[in-house]
Amino acid sequence: MAAPRIRIETGDITRLAVDAIVNAANESLLGGGGVDGAIHRAAGPALQSECRTLGGCPTGEARITGGYRLPARHVIHTVGPVWQGGRRGESGLLSACYRNSLELARLHRLGSIAFPAISTGIYGYPLQAATGIAVAEVRRFVAREPRPEQIVFVCFSAEAVALYEAALADPEPQNTGNMG
Ligand code: ADP
Repeated sequence: MAAPRIRIETGDITRLAVDAIVNAANESLLGGGGVDGAIHRAAGPALQSECRTLGGCPTGEARITGGYRLPARHVIHTVGPVWQGGRRGESGLLSACYRNSLELARLHRLGSIAFPAISTGIYGYPLQAATGIAVAEVRRFVAREPRPEQIVFVCFSAEAVALYEAALADPEPQNTGNMG
């Protein structure tokens, strides 16, 4: 049997030697806390210099840069929605983050991409609902596109591992908490 295209890894996304890691950025693209801060620290200051040339990124969209000192060749910066209760289009915007990041990877002919749990830290998106959206959107993409061949969900907590495993085991993961 062929290896599964979608898999889970635990730990720090900045250590992964994939073609692109996805950054849960903010609209300025100039760095922040959480995974964004970790990626900029590990990549070094040249990443912020390139980000400055991009002029920001609206919520739901994605931009690609080099990876600099990271083991990953590229960083795909996407801006997740801030959770505001679920009725402000958050689920559609979060889906768009996954879709647009995968589309950029495809356009750049990248073979592997790793995602953190976008919006589930400082931006407050409930982890279970976000996990269901992430898995559903990635599945939709792999059903119609051969590239990228490898998609990794990077889990930073035991809770995240359990939720991604459950969503991947579920043929139709629930968007629990998605009231938008
Ligand atoms: P956001 O502002 O989009 O909520 P955060 O960086 O605050 O972004 O959190 C997004 C997710 O990334 C959270 O689930 C957090 O636990 C996780 N995370 C934080 N640091 C790392 C890291 N170094 N590698 C992978 N995931 C991380």
